[in-house]
Amino acid sequence: MRILILGPQGSGKGTQAKLVASSLGIPHVATGDMLRAAVANGSELGRRVQPILERGDLVPDELMVELIRARLVDEDGFVLDGFPRTVPQAEALDAMLDEIAKPLDVVLLLEVSDEVSLERLLGRRADEGRSDDAPDAIENRLRLYHELTEPVVERYRAKGTLAPVDGEQPVDDVAREIEDALGRVGAPQA
Ligand code: ADP
Repeated sequence: MRILILGPQGSGKGTQAKLVASSLGIPHVATGDMLRAAVANGSELGRRVQPILERGDLVPDELMVELIRARLVDEDGFVLDGFPRTVPQAEALDAMLDEIAKPLDVVLLLEVSDEVSLERLLGRRADEGRSDDAPDAIENRLRLYHELTEPVVERYRAKGTLAPVDGEQPVDDVAREIEDALGRVGAPQA
């Protein structure tokens, strides 16, 4: 099953993506994790993206599309988290998956208000110390989400593949709603 999960920063996207991936036995492909791993191992890619991540800006589309193409090429199923974040990225993803006749089965959207996002991100900062969880970078990331990623949400809503889920509930309730949504798409539950 090919699942895309969308939602603003702090919506619990990463947490839910991991749960779904492990329950279905498919990889959790998270671009933020891939980029942070590149920074941590000091690769050329890592050196290039480090200042971008710290500001909470977006890595250029071309670079992200190539990264994701290489990562998804041999996968039949996945939970994709953090990509696409812009309309050009979504167009590239859809074209890429159409080419290999492996379209997305469902696009989950975790809905949370900006207030809840902010509160959770500031809390996470204390726990995890992510350098892009500083207030300026958080504000920038949420602004970019509204400006560039919401049009991606609307694109999938128009295609009829969007399954909205209330992300302000406790983790277990969100997970249950997601399971129901996947059941409706006819997911072979592992
Ligand atoms: P969050 O969703 O909380 O911002 P992520 O871990 O998904 O965190 O991403 C961290 C950072 O990695 C982003 O702020 C951005 O700089 C970069 N990034 C991740 N995915 C993409 C993408 N698809 N396009 C551009 N930049 C990305």
